[in-house]
Amino acid sequence: MSENNKIQPMPAPYPSLERQLLNIVPHPRLQLETHLVEHCDLNCHMCMHFSPLAQPQFTAIDRFFRDMQRLQELFGHAVSYIMLLGGEPLLHPRVAEFLEIARKHFPYAEVILYTNGIKIPQMDTAFWESCKKNNITITLTRYPISMDYRRIDKLMIEYGVTYQYCNTPGRSKKSSHYPLDIQGEQDPRQNFLTCDMANRCIFLRDGRLYTCCVIPNIQHFNAYFNQNLEVTPLDYIDIYQTDSGAEIMRFLASPPPFCRYCDVARRTILHEWTYSQKDIHEWT
Ligand code: SF4
Ligand code: SF4
Repeated sequence: MSENNKIQPMPAPYPSLERQLLNIVPHPRLQLETHLVEHCDLNCHMCMHFSPLAQPQFTAIDRFFRDMQRLQELFGHAVSYIMLLGGEPLLHPRVAEFLEIARKHFPYAEVILYTNGIKIPQMDTAFWESCKKNNITITLTRYPISMDYRRIDKLMIEYGVTYQYCNTPGRSKKSSHYPLDIQGEQDPRQNFLTCDMANRCIFLRDGRLYTCCVIPNIQHFNAYFNQNLEVTPLDYIDIYQTDSGAEIMRFLASPPPFCRYCDVARRTILHEWTYSQKDIHEWT
């Protein structure tokens, strides 16, 4: 299909029974994502991390170091991947050190840097050397913006860095609308079972693990729109309050109360990509 063909939004596909079961089965190995930066230099419509609404904020490197150390104690080598993202992670002035720390603690995990690529042409030699030395995989999304992707390819090849695009060449980026129910009147168990982020987009923030990226990032939505979608201690697990990786994995495979705020049945996909207007309807 050509890029110019308009694709109408459609309901998000209902997950198979197998996929639903995966949500409630504890994984044998941890996979996680975490933000280096809360804000972003692109500001996409309906961003699921609420980055267009976030104030500029950078993750403290000592906090990240401690959390990696603690996860190493809990999981050893049973970590499949660590995805460093945001917001836009390349906005962090110490991004190269984060790569080093993640690799040092998890020599056998895949360490992925997930970026929109805008800053790639400005990255310094220390960044490229850290990517190469630490065997980082850079994953980029192609957006329908003015970007010289051939230059990016050239830089990746020149520095010998493993990279991939997460969307197909020649197909423009689409967006998904994942609406919230700000009254919190949805069935959390049903939502958890049918959500494609549950027990999958496992998120680390400040020593706490969440089953998805929405719960820890709702703070940006709450602050910007003056809402109170409540996150309680039942919505996360503190990695310093348990000595059991198995307990963490069981927790992540069970529905937290926050799931009542998602309206999974109303999710739609294949919206044309555009910039955020910071309108509440992008998220409701
Ligand atoms: S590039 Fe990613 S983090 Fe940034 S606004 Fe777009 S979807 Fe959100
Ligand atoms: S809070 Fe929403 S996005 Fe997160 S697991 Fe529950 S239903 Fe899915």
